[in-house]
Amino acid sequence: MKLTKASEEKLKKRLLDTRSEILSEVNHNTETTMEMGNDGVQDIGDVSANTYNRQILLSLNDGQRTILADIDEALDRIKDGEYGICIECEDEIGTKRLEVRPQAKYCIDCKTEIEKGSKA
Ligand SMILES: [Zn+2]
Repeated sequence: MKLTKASEEKLKKRLLDTRSEILSEVNHNTETTMEMGNDGVQDIGDVSANTYNRQILLSLNDGQRTILADIDEALDRIKDGEYGICIECEDEIGTKRLEVRPQAKYCIDCKTEIEKGSKA
């Protein structure tokens, strides 16, 4: 099923929310005095992709850094109108899968193949 504009907006919001969550956790951990609003969305939402503070990046663990990178890529693809398309086979990733994992860049088939390969 093709991703509608409305679903895309919803998923984009979730990507931004997840990004804020990760960054605010890190800010908390590093006791940075960055002032956050109650929702924390506005401050972080204004920060464009790939312009994170170096200190923030260094304090992320690998998992968080991977998710952030995937989120940034997803946001870039939304901007380019390529969101929801598998970067491997250019098939649609599918709304259901994106709802589970909005930052997904592979369709389920490619993802399965890649995981098989990395486990072998
Ligand atoms: Zn694919």
